[in-house]
Amino acid sequence: MKKTAVLILFCLISAFVLPVCVFYARGGSANDNEIAEKLRMSENISVFFHNENKTVSMPIEEYLCGVVCAEMPASFEYEALKAQAVAARSYARYKQNEINAQHPEASVCTDYTHCKAYKALEENEKSWGKDSEKYRAKIENAIIETQGEVITYNGEVALAVFHSQSGGGRTENSADVWGGNVPYLVSVESHGEEASPGFYSDVTVPFENFKNTIISLNPKASLTSSNDIGQIVKSEGGAVKTIQIGGQEFSGKEIRSAFGLRSSCFTISSEGDNIRFEVTGYGHGVGMSQYGANAMAKEGCDYREILKHYYSGIEIECV
Ligand SMILES: [Zn+2]
Repeated sequence: MKKTAVLILFCLISAFVLPVCVFYARGGSANDNEIAEKLRMSENISVFFHNENKTVSMPIEEYLCGVVCAEMPASFEYEALKAQAVAARSYARYKQNEINAQHPEASVCTDYTHCKAYKALEENEKSWGKDSEKYRAKIENAIIETQGEVITYNGEVALAVFHSQSGGGRTENSADVWGGNVPYLVSVESHGEEASPGFYSDVTVPFENFKNTIISLNPKASLTSSNDIGQIVKSEGGAVKTIQIGGQEFSGKEIRSAFGLRSSCFTISSEGDNIRFEVTGYGHGVGMSQYGANAMAKEGCDYREILKHYYSGIEIECV
């Protein structure tokens, strides 16, 4: 009789208590099937998986799970993750209205150097380790709680570009980085990023290599010593807009790309036979700074305040 009672108690615990514990450990507000169903309840987007060379049509909210995972650490503040979800959704929706020359059959690709990074939730779970369930729920809920929301400007979906860290205490004007004028991508203050990983970096290049690279960019450059490195014009965001080298003008973006710098926010100096770049920040500097968004969230700002700070004059709505 006593054995039967113990058995019944064990079955009750297994049937009711354990699933509840697992559920709350995941931090979710709905069960897994409900979450999966909600993520599937969206229009499809065509995604070119560049590593596998194939195009897949998938629900946009499912695609966003992979983008948010790849683009922002899941350990970030929840409101920063929600801001990231809305920015990534806006970017994807904007791209759906364009024909892309590099992958005409797909709206977006998974190559971060071209569109946005993508890493499936399942792949992330290996690196998340013991936090896997918690982080998965955090990402999924950030997407579900902002489901369908995009950033608009004058009623049109905005090209909500973003970057990791602003190097000069401000974001960049899109006009200074890519030319053209996008009214919602203008320079705004961005703070709280100096302590983030990789904010400060440096690259040292032997002078001869520096010279050869510069000449490969522009054969008219005449370069015999570091004295031939001249005036720098900075952008409003603090990046190098143009720099005179060997009598020729180069953009900060060209120099960043040629020497593999983490951003165009750099100083340049000579050290013996070497040229040294000291760099702050990471990325192109336009739109939302991800580490800046996290700093704002830590100060108590919600995702709407974060987005309205980084994208000037926008609305957040379902369209
Ligand atoms: Zn692409």
